[in-house]
Amino acid sequence: MAKKSKLPSAKRARSAPAKASARPSRAATEEAIRTLIKWAGDDPYREGLRGTPARVARAYEEWFSGYGEDPRAYLSRTFEEISGYDEMVLLRDIGFVSHCEHHLAPIIGRVHIGYLPRSRVVGISKLARLVDVYARRMQIQEKMTAEIAGCLSSVLKPLGVAVVIEAVHECMTTRGVHKSGVAMVTSQMLGVFRRNAVTRQEFLSAIGRPNLRGE
Ligand SMILES: [Zn+2]
Repeated sequence: MAKKSKLPSAKRARSAPAKASARPSRAATEEAIRTLIKWAGDDPYREGLRGTPARVARAYEEWFSGYGEDPRAYLSRTFEEISGYDEMVLLRDIGFVSHCEHHLAPIIGRVHIGYLPRSRVVGISKLARLVDVYARRMQIQEKMTAEIAGCLSSVLKPLGVAVVIEAVHECMTTRGVHKSGVAMVTSQMLGVFRRNAVTRQEFLSAIGRPNLRGE
């Protein structure tokens, strides 16, 4: 940390997150993918690989389409005011594919979301979309868990939010320690889900994880 702060300001500016205007051209991107193919030891100009850089660039557009979308703005346009409903809203097993920011390897898993509404709710498809916006970025699972919970909390202003993510990290299962089938579980409990053990337990039982220790 201390080292970073000693960098000259110009260097620091360059390491800041790239702005949309700094996006490289499609040609430069495809050239970078050719470099990776060469790094792996193959010939990017052989017949089978000739179309690969263009395909990878298009795949990146899809895998990382969550940049440039603001889920807070989206949710605040689509919530509905309700009154009288005071039970938990729960959505289980929202499948997602993300990519870890350390290796750009897939993270494949499921998200469970619960919240106790105060006055606002959102439709099921909106929750699934919220998950996608955060998943389609370079991620770490802990951050994604907190982002989903934080977004719901700030827009819906519910009595509490619970988010649990279970996911397999391909960077762990296909390389390095080679642990196949190991799922990582992260959770974020806010409001009543954090304060009230009964509410938290109701949520954890409903998602089939009664023994998960909530924060
Ligand atoms: Zn990784």
